[in-house]
Amino acid sequence: MPNPKRRFSHAKQGKRRSQRKLTALDTSLCPKCEEVKLPHRVCLNCGYYGNREIVVVEEG
Ligand SMILES: [Zn+2]
Repeated sequence: MPNPKRRFSHAKQGKRRSQRKLTALDTSLCPKCEEVKLPHRVCLNCGYYGNREIVVVEEG
């Protein structure tokens, strides 16, 4: 079984992990109600996707 010759040092491990970070979510605006929504998803505010109502949003 091939195996790595040496383990990664803590410094090397830290350098690799220093590149890992969370990024802000990508968002787009609903063309109908101009609320912030996730792209390629039904708008949570008005229930529209494109120019069609997909989901009927219940109030309260
Ligand atoms: Zn909307």
